[in-house]
Amino acid sequence: MKSKVAVIPCEVYEEHRVYEAVKKGISLLGGWESFVKPEEKILLKPNLLNRADVQKAVTTHPAVFGAVARNLLENGFSLLSYGDSPGYPGSVEKTAKICGIKEIADRMQIPLADFTQSRTVDFVRGKTSRKYEICRGILDSDGIISICKMKTHQLERITGGVKNMFGCVYGMNKGATHVKYPDAESFAQMLIDLNLLLKARLHIMDGVVAMEGNGPASGNPVKMNVILLSADPVALDATFCRLIDLDPADIPTVYYGPIYGLGHWKKEDIEIVGVENLEKYRNPNFDVSREKKYLGKWALIGRLAAAAKKPVILKNKCIRCGACVNACPLEEKALSFRKMKESAASGNAKRGVPVYDYRKCIRCYCCQEMCPEQAIVVKRKL
Ligand code: SF4
Ligand code: SF4
Repeated sequence: MKSKVAVIPCEVYEEHRVYEAVKKGISLLGGWESFVKPEEKILLKPNLLNRADVQKAVTTHPAVFGAVARNLLENGFSLLSYGDSPGYPGSVEKTAKICGIKEIADRMQIPLADFTQSRTVDFVRGKTSRKYEICRGILDSDGIISICKMKTHQLERITGGVKNMFGCVYGMNKGATHVKYPDAESFAQMLIDLNLLLKARLHIMDGVVAMEGNGPASGNPVKMNVILLSADPVALDATFCRLIDLDPADIPTVYYGPIYGLGHWKKEDIEIVGVENLEKYRNPNFDVSREKKYLGKWALIGRLAAAAKKPVILKNKCIRCGACVNACPLEEKALSFRKMKESAASGNAKRGVPVYDYRKCIRCYCCQEMCPEQAIVVKRKL
């Protein structure tokens, strides 16, 4: 059976228009009843990566979150909660407040789920990963509706439906997972197992304004004018790829979808509804890495190619906040404030820009993801 993806045009974050777009998408996919039951506790899982202003397109826009919640409430699905485990240390509440989602949730009386505790969950069917530390709020719910953001990603090239579920993994365990699955391929396989374990009922992608370039936190907002909806996160991400002229087969989180039994990416296995064809919404100039990805039997070449790239700090942008050092998941960190100078005036230690030790660095790009100043870029070694 084909996977259905609804592509719904939506040009602005105007409350009513986003609401109508989500309503149309759900109706094209068979209505809410196809995904949830009124007596079920449903967790809404937006992307709350870090404490960024909503204009930066780092997080799911509150208008999309609000439109999904309002549609559900109006149809009698009232047992809602929301949450995510942000990469930035600190509370999910603060992150939700800064991007505007908390205000909408409070207005609709949707409580924040518990993302401060976790439980280890075994997944015996997992092909790559058989154990996850999952946030309590996820385990307390009967089902998840993922509301992801259309963005670029240094490790996986894009982040959307499949990657958004990583926010269900508890806080600092995310770093340990990066260490265990250090390359794009194994990390993608772990993400696909996680999706198979948690089985979100529906994936809704905020692509009204997407992020291109140095994503997922330091890129540039770009209008894509669409909201995508699908029960199949692989088909959803493959459709995002087609909208930006990227071969879905080059994206590890997409390529391994059918191999692991999560979903489909081939054109003939996907039915697009909502628009006649994707052409009008295609952006071939979307700033994303378009180099060939070596997967499957070519994985070794892929790993060598990945090792030829490295994160670099732009000294003129760095405010020496240390978020990148904290984000590095290695026990012996691969970047640190090693160049301490004594401030002549105050006598206090003044720290310089963090310095990388590329021999230790596993190229997970957690540091780049967490930099609040867009000061970390990825460069290729000669
Ligand atoms: S590179 Fe970014 S995260 Fe690291 S210290 Fe500088 S500003 Fe902070
Ligand atoms: S320095 Fe950055 S890219 Fe390297 S291991 Fe640490 S967080 Fe990952």
